[in-house]
Amino acid sequence: MAEQHTTTTKTTCPYCGVGCGVLATPLQNGTVQIEGDETHPANLGRLCSKGSALGETVDLGNRLLHPKVHGKRVSWDEAIVSVARGFSDIIAKHGPESVAFYVSGQVLTEDYYTANKLMKGFIGGANIDTNSRLCMSSAVAAYKRAFGSDTVPCSYEDIELADLVILAGSNLAWCHPVIFQRLRQAKEDRPEMKIVVIDPRKTSTCDIADLHLSVKPGTDATLFNGLLHYLKKEDYLDLEFLEAHTEGFAAAMTAAKTSAGSIPQVAAVTELQEQDIVKFYQLFASTEKVVTVYSQGINQSTSGTDKCNSIINCHLATGRIGKPGMGPFSFTGQPNAMGGREVGGLSNQLAAHMEITNPEHHDRVSRFWKADNLATENGAKAIDMFNEVASGKIKAIWIMATNPVVSLPDADKVKAALEKCELVVVSECEQFTDTTELADILLPAAAWGEKDGMVTNSERRISHQRAFLPLPGEARPDWWIITQVARKMGFEAAFPFEKPADVFREHAQLSAFENDGERDFNIGGLADISDEDYDNLVPVQWPVMANTEMGTARLFTDKRFFTPSGKARMISVEPKLPFNLTTEAYPLVLNTGRIRDQWHTMTRTGRAVRLNAHIPEPMVQIHPLDAATFELVDGALAEVSSQWGEMIVRVVVTDEQRPGSIFVPIHWSSQYASMARVDALVASVYDPVSGQPESKHTPVTIRAYQPVWHGFILSRHPITVKDANYWVKVRGAQFWRYEIAGQQSLDDPAKWAQQHLGEEGEWLDFTDAKAGRYRAGQIKRNRLEGVVFIAPSHDLPARSWLSQLFSLNSLSDAERYSLLVGQPSQGQKDAGQIVCSCFGVGQNTLNEAIQSGHVNSVDEIGQKLKAGTNCGSCVPELKKLLAH
Ligand code: SF4
Repeated sequence: MAEQHTTTTKTTCPYCGVGCGVLATPLQNGTVQIEGDETHPANLGRLCSKGSALGETVDLGNRLLHPKVHGKRVSWDEAIVSVARGFSDIIAKHGPESVAFYVSGQVLTEDYYTANKLMKGFIGGANIDTNSRLCMSSAVAAYKRAFGSDTVPCSYEDIELADLVILAGSNLAWCHPVIFQRLRQAKEDRPEMKIVVIDPRKTSTCDIADLHLSVKPGTDATLFNGLLHYLKKEDYLDLEFLEAHTEGFAAAMTAAKTSAGSIPQVAAVTELQEQDIVKFYQLFASTEKVVTVYSQGINQSTSGTDKCNSIINCHLATGRIGKPGMGPFSFTGQPNAMGGREVGGLSNQLAAHMEITNPEHHDRVSRFWKADNLATENGAKAIDMFNEVASGKIKAIWIMATNPVVSLPDADKVKAALEKCELVVVSECEQFTDTTELADILLPAAAWGEKDGMVTNSERRISHQRAFLPLPGEARPDWWIITQVARKMGFEAAFPFEKPADVFREHAQLSAFENDGERDFNIGGLADISDEDYDNLVPVQWPVMANTEMGTARLFTDKRFFTPSGKARMISVEPKLPFNLTTEAYPLVLNTGRIRDQWHTMTRTGRAVRLNAHIPEPMVQIHPLDAATFELVDGALAEVSSQWGEMIVRVVVTDEQRPGSIFVPIHWSSQYASMARVDALVASVYDPVSGQPESKHTPVTIRAYQPVWHGFILSRHPITVKDANYWVKVRGAQFWRYEIAGQQSLDDPAKWAQQHLGEEGEWLDFTDAKAGRYRAGQIKRNRLEGVVFIAPSHDLPARSWLSQLFSLNSLSDAERYSLLVGQPSQGQKDAGQIVCSCFGVGQNTLNEAIQSGHVNSVDEIGQKLKAGTNCGSCVPELKKLLAH
């Protein structure tokens, strides 16, 4: 029977910085139907695999639904009093620098604004920082150095209008998939468009590249300095623009010439082929419409700010900014990283793009907020904040919507710091995370679909993230929680907010307050927005003044910048090596990043069965030459270690990885794996200008991890794995999957299996004690309840055909027999590793269709198997299979 629909709500995806519009329709069966919003300018109806699966992430399993103090459920009143009193007492004894807020690019602008106002305006310290520090703070610092303001000049439309798109340090296909789809479409429409990918790894983004530069990790500034020098030498500069609208050109050119004055010099540093460098430089030089998109691969470096400026320099030198199809375009990783920048969510910003240490700004914000205790000095940036927690300088910390025990570099040190911190408050949607486990006070926050407010995407577009579900339990929006604490701390008058629109209006009014055009961020056109207009606000790009109500697609069209002189600054960039270089003991470079179907620490995406199918286990990608050197086998386990920590992951041998460098995803926490927090290995060194850590370059070593036994359990119910040194937990359809391995032999595998799944039911099992093999199936009322497979090596039966047995109400004799022999019965098919998560199409199915000649193109795969026809995120992988 068809589902009856209730109301459809226009909202915004909570994942990446693309900021796609989503249509959400709660259904009567408790699920939510998700579609792309065709009217949203960011995605025009498209969604990627993560966005498409949003409806599968709204269940209440593992939700934190009630406030807790020291593990005991309390009322909201008690919780608010505990937080307010705890912070007030510590501030009274040790001053405002003894407390901190660590917030997130996941919270909404209204939440961010309220938190920032409380800390900087009324507590009087500036120890508020955000996980966006890890994502784009180098880009912010570089824009401010170059333009005098944190201004992203471009729109997504510029990427489609460009004739050359450079993707530097960006795996767009996996990290900003809908923009990748738009770019792919633009190239299909105009094949003469050129795309250059600069990335040590050959990622899925290279699928549409005309040129891939597998640059040596950390050498991007030399490549762009070389380009700047080439542009001058070959006479491609826009001298008129340089003369009239920039300063610092001569010094920047000298630095470029010194570090990258010839193609051989650039080739020696970057380890690129000279002809490839020349090809790139010629493309840039001879193409007027150029957009350079850059992301974490550039930003996450101890010289990330310089790298960003080396890119901006090339655009300024050619006057390619402020015009359609041109500009240096930093992409934000998170849904509201940009909103955080607007309100001053970083510890070295004030609010509305003003500076704490600028006396004029300080005075203005003090008067606007009627705050006589406004912070006078910048606070601690993320890494230093947790160092100060470790040293005891910071005695109370309030963590909102982020999981620093997993995501911050040197994560074990972060964990130890929180363990001994006097007061740890955590506002969260989830009950159990690596960070909530260390909380003294837990505050249940509203999740996506329940909360209401604004987010700003990478192109400065403010979109409404609307609620369409009731608040479950006692969950509350973050702005409300912060407001209650602020009032209880004695700041009632400054926190009169009753709804998000109240906060937003104040935020918009501050942006326009005494702003005669000297500050870029101005949304004064929304300052008096009615509640109704706030509810109905259509996505709009800032600045939004009374005379630009439709927003502003492009900045610097008038060639005026926000520096005192009105000119943009060219910055002299002296390329620097990464802080920690490889050594004999740690000979490989660890690069960390995202995978296609997971988001951050998996608290949301880990719930969606189809998102777990693409890459179910934490893994390390390594080049075949390195795999041979370190005696690693594809599919086996490896231990990766650095000076700071270690982890165990599955080995993926691939020539898409650069020799000498390995890649590990950032997503796995201790909730999903025994030992796979990659940030435990990452050094907490950071860019001195931006404070952004060097998450792309940690020296590590790797060795085969050789347990005595390997195995897996599929269970209809979640279990706790015992006696295993390695485990990974994966949510599947109607079952949980556990990949396991142990270093101590299992004396009695049958008993061990029953300890995990329970003794009840009918057990079919097979033991070959000599060979170390054990197989078992647990059946109740002829329905499969669990399977256990143990073997001496990782060579175990495929999980996909076994998984399918959980969907059956009754097992046939052949299926029972297949359990015993560990092989699919006739008629059963093993789909293999899932490639298309939307339709669950596996690699074996695809290979079979390709090899039989039934499909010869992505379109034909779509027609026959549907793969690639929904979100399109798997298209690069389909092309790879066809090519193989
Ligand atoms: S590209 Fe995907 S993850 Fe990013 S906002 Fe759009 S749907 Fe969400």
